[in-house]
Amino acid sequence: MHDTAIRRIPLAQPSIGARERELVEQVLASDVLALGPFAQTFEAGVAEMAGRRFGISCNSGTAGLHMAVAALGIGDGDEVITTPFSFVASANCILYERATPRFVDIEEDSLGMDPNLVEDAAGPRTKAILPVHVFGRPCRIEPLAAMAGSHGWRLIEDACEGLGSRTGDRKLGSFGDASVFAFYPNKQITTGEGGMVVTDDPVLASTMRSLRNQGRDEDGTWLRHVRLGYNYRLDELSAAVGVAQLERLEELRAGRARVAAAYAAALGGRDWVRLPQSSAEETVDWFVYVIRLDASIDRDRLMRDLDAVGVPSRPYFSPLHLQPYYQEALGYRMGDFPVTERVAASTLAIPWSAVLPDEDVQYVATAIIDAVARQSV
Ligand SMILES: *Cc1c(COP(=O)(O)O)cnc(C)c1O
Repeated sequence: MHDTAIRRIPLAQPSIGARERELVEQVLASDVLALGPFAQTFEAGVAEMAGRRFGISCNSGTAGLHMAVAALGIGDGDEVITTPFSFVASANCILYERATPRFVDIEEDSLGMDPNLVEDAAGPRTKAILPVHVFGRPCRIEPLAAMAGSHGWRLIEDACEGLGSRTGDRKLGSFGDASVFAFYPNKQITTGEGGMVVTDDPVLASTMRSLRNQGRDEDGTWLRHVRLGYNYRLDELSAAVGVAQLERLEELRAGRARVAAAYAAALGGRDWVRLPQSSAEETVDWFVYVIRLDASIDRDRLMRDLDAVGVPSRPYFSPLHLQPYYQEALGYRMGDFPVTERVAASTLAIPWSAVLPDEDVQYVATAIIDAVARQSV
């Protein structure tokens, strides 16, 4: 079957248009390639979008998470409660400052940290919680924020997959002491590599501007360093791409909504697959399109069969507590977080972008349906 098809559908694809090229040209013509006006425009735009006072751009989401942890004074001996169902950066950023991530299991529905498990994981050294919005869907951020407030914990919101999503009338990125966005090419908007921390706290904002700029003071004296800093700055070429992407956000969102509707029409109503879902009070701009397969389906065989017809797919996520480094450094093992492990064994990210043509969605859906049918004979 499909023997004429030698096409290969991308798993993810950025949408770069005339506006991105135009603004990058402006940067090149200006000779200001770093520490310039595009980063500031981009910061103002993202901060406004998240309903925050300050945006601190940086050169990756990971750098943003690290700066938030460092600027909040989380360090040696501190514990931070976070989720094992995430991308590795949300836990690594805690280890960078010699603090310890304390994982708690997730809820089956939102795939975010389960608020009911947080208090049991907390202890006298708990300094912060770091929840993650998974795939663009809000985690139970409101009860988590309330818990942080009542215990005096700091709250770092990993919104690296959540740009533009909302719960009720609150935007993701508007909760807690600091929230972090990321702009890798598969995110809702991209700068190539890039990230941003948003906050309402002027002192935190100022500390992070210093951290990303080699520990320089706000007065910018070039060879004076008041703290241990990094080079986490976002360059102007990347920032210009970000400004253009932000201008085009509605168009990109509409593209993703079209693709989600096409997948729902092509794959919906089958008892062996659960499509991405959100609750009535949520508005989700999906970061990836992750389907959940019935336990009876051999996912790895399905992935191989899809790959053979040019459809890439990826298990999403691979639990953090089972990563070799985490097992070795923190002693976690299989069985520690059963919901995370069960979900991780059944999830599959399939091709997804704002520019995926309807006919490719159809092709992917047919390939999945055919491959699953072959498993059940
Ligand atoms: C993308 C992402 C990050 C940051 O990734 P970078 O590649 O460093 O920009 C952090 N946390 C989560 C959950 C992510 O998906």
